[in-house]
Amino acid sequence: MKQQSVDILIPAYNEENNISLMYLQLDQELQYLKFEFNFIFINDGSEDQTLFEIKRIAAQDPRVKYIDLSRNFGHQNALKAGLDHGVSSVAIMMDCDLQHPVKLIANMLALYEDGFDIVRTLRDDQHQRNFFKKFTSIGFYKVLNLFSDIKLEAGSADFRLVSGKALDQLKSFVEFDLFYRGLTKWIGFKQATVKYTPELRLFGHSKYSIGQMLSFGLKGFTSFSTKPLYFAAYMGLFFSICSLFYIPYILYTFYLNQEIPGWSSVIASVAFFGGLNLSILGIIGIYLSKLFTQSKCRPHYIVRESKL
Ligand code: UDP
Ligand code: MG
Repeated sequence: MKQQSVDILIPAYNEENNISLMYLQLDQELQYLKFEFNFIFINDGSEDQTLFEIKRIAAQDPRVKYIDLSRNFGHQNALKAGLDHGVSSVAIMMDCDLQHPVKLIANMLALYEDGFDIVRTLRDDQHQRNFFKKFTSIGFYKVLNLFSDIKLEAGSADFRLVSGKALDQLKSFVEFDLFYRGLTKWIGFKQATVKYTPELRLFGHSKYSIGQMLSFGLKGFTSFSTKPLYFAAYMGLFFSICSLFYIPYILYTFYLNQEIPGWSSVIASVAFFGGLNLSILGIIGIYLSKLFTQSKCRPHYIVRESKL
């Protein structure tokens, strides 16, 4: 009987030193599993020798496949490229920096065989990360959960198994600003979660700078919640009602001829409401820009060449 095949999707951006190590680990750890594996590397417009390294191992091992994108399209779009080009009914997405332990794949596949459609992973590393990453990550998930309809745990990682119908569904998503951490939770099906302690990044550095983390966070946030729009409206209403109470006071001071000393409070409220207006416009602007990008219907990525 033919063994069931599993695609391992590995986006790589400037990971030249990690490719062969990643491959060696996969090769070693997975050899005793009864599944057939495809190692699909997605070169996300790397500027170093990543593609060369991938091609080198692909020439030696037919299980190694690759998709070379025409430029850097970002981690989530690279994952979409992998999902779209996958050939199996089970896909495992993982990073190329050896932070996601290859050992965990056996557990994930065992859960898959137990009938789970999606196996998500949770990073159990709060003692390892620096204060800033820890603080921003916990804060982000707290705010996201407060405002959106899905509940994501802090430490949700881009290391997951998706299979069968859930995989078909995930592939069918064409929205921009993909946020797979949220989407895999959102689509439902039978889900399991496993915890892992991440390894330290072996070579290279994290591609998420503070600015990118903020932008990724905002994208994820606005993809899963329209509540900030309602929040803006409620806040506007609240302050309009407050200002209604202010009018009798203004009339009263006018009547007593004391209106001039009040200029500082006027300036203060002008500044306050000016800021409030701007921030609410900003929130609306973010959603509008999403509509704008979506309406152009551009592809998420462009493939230069591939070996599948
Ligand atoms: N990555 C990518 N395109 C990008 C940025 C990152 O394909 O524009 C890949 C990267 O090579 C790695 C994974 O996405 O395999 C996660 O990136 P990174 O390790 O920098 O993120 P972190 O672990 O710091 O969240
Ligand atoms: Mg990493």
